Amino acid sequence: MKLYNSLTRKKEDFKENVPGKVSMYTCGPTVYHFAHIGNLRSYIMEDILEKYLRYSGYDVKRVMNITDVGHLSSDADTGEDKMVKGAKRENKTVMDIARFYTEAFFKDCEKLNIKVPDVVEPATNCIKEFIDMVQGLIEKDYAYLAGGNVYFDTSKLDEYYVFNKHDIDELMVGVREGVEEDTNKRNKNDFVLWFTKSKFEEQALKWDSPWGVGYPGWHIECSAISLKHLGEYLDIHCGGIDNAFPHHTNEIAQSEAFVGHKWCNFWFHVLHLNTNSGKMSKSKGEFLTVSLLEEKGYNPLAYRFFCLQSHYRKQLVFSYENLDGAATAYEKLLKKIATLKVNEADELDKAAIEKLQGSFKDALDNDINTSLAVTAVYDVLKANTNDKTKLWLLNDFDKVLSLDLVEGAKKLDEQKNEPQGEKDELSAYVEEQIALRAAAKKEKNFAEADRIRNELLEKGIKLLDTREGTTWSKE
Ligand code: AMP
Ligand code: ZN
Repeated sequence: MKLYNSLTRKKEDFKENVPGKVSMYTCGPTVYHFAHIGNLRSYIMEDILEKYLRYSGYDVKRVMNITDVGHLSSDADTGEDKMVKGAKRENKTVMDIARFYTEAFFKDCEKLNIKVPDVVEPATNCIKEFIDMVQGLIEKDYAYLAGGNVYFDTSKLDEYYVFNKHDIDELMVGVREGVEEDTNKRNKNDFVLWFTKSKFEEQALKWDSPWGVGYPGWHIECSAISLKHLGEYLDIHCGGIDNAFPHHTNEIAQSEAFVGHKWCNFWFHVLHLNTNSGKMSKSKGEFLTVSLLEEKGYNPLAYRFFCLQSHYRKQLVFSYENLDGAATAYEKLLKKIATLKVNEADELDKAAIEKLQGSFKDALDNDINTSLAVTAVYDVLKANTNDKTKLWLLNDFDKVLSLDLVEGAKKLDEQKNEPQGEKDELSAYVEEQIALRAAAKKEKNFAEADRIRNELLEKGIKLLDTREGTTWSKE
């Protein structure tokens, strides 16, 4: 398999450290708000990579952290902790916020058929590991104490900018517009490993440490959690492209300084999903979430399909027109699949399987080309072979694509075939409930409106509030 490696800026033959086994680390979400669909684009593409490695026979162990402390508003160690910001916004404790948004994140993942990694580790579980690693870095003379904080000393490295030759002036940490310079740093790019002092004294979660009561920096989390679960040699590290600098750059600096050799071989970076007006951001207030798409009547898997239609190393522009196009194509595809009928007497067509599976694998072997893998799905439908073989192939490809190709088609078919009488009865009941809910809303009785929505949900009926009024669908 060829995989683009951000470290070498080349497509390379993928090679694992231990034959047959792949260790994979993913930067998890900062759980101070819902994930936006941009974040989820990264997780969808990483999910495809993981599933394709498994499909190809590798034994994969994938680890993800949950950032519930230490990620400051600016990636350059300044500003308020994002978790504290979230807690203030909602008048809750940091741990309540973390719990709520971690759960929300995995609910979104489930809707998008993103597999939960083998190990999910909240940063607040690993304070001892962070302290040990910081201690090790101090002992090896890669870190120093200044003004109460522990910093990594980037001048000790032969090379710091590993991903590209940055314009150093542009990226000088601490001197960006509106950001106060941290005068404790010996070098502009030094970064905090452990904070005991920050401008924001309201940091909610603090732990005792050899350097005083404080909390870890964001970058140390991923290095220490990866070392804890995956050892000193990592095969693949994933994340969105914004994390390449400074987050991943700092992870490499401190991990390699700590273990004393090369740490991770492959860096898999997903480019951003943007809107026409620019970057998508959680801190911008109103942003696009999976629930919002659902409220507007989209099947979350139509969004997954939308992501798979383009390459992970290209920026993707989100617009409702683009999503509509993908949603229509996805539904058409499922309808086409629903017409396939198995004749048990048919034999699986081995030659067709070999040929079509071949093009599917070729697509993904070439740096995870998902749009060509989707084309391979259409090629199955067009192929001159029996339906049994086609369904076998669709199920096989779906181990990686996770678009519910056959299941989704079956559901569509069942909805179409429900007896008319039952359908009418259900419609009448749901329409009545929708009218009652609308009346409750009008009277500002939102508790009653929510109660009706939830009661229907328990019966498998989902309401969708659209500009044209409320519509519904049955799970
Ligand atoms: P965060 O929750 O901010 O720590 O980000 C979670 C993941 O989403 C990280 O891997 C980010 O690099 C990635 N990410 C952030 N914004 C986008 C975007 N607009 N498109 C794709 N991935 C993103
Ligand atoms: Zn990370």
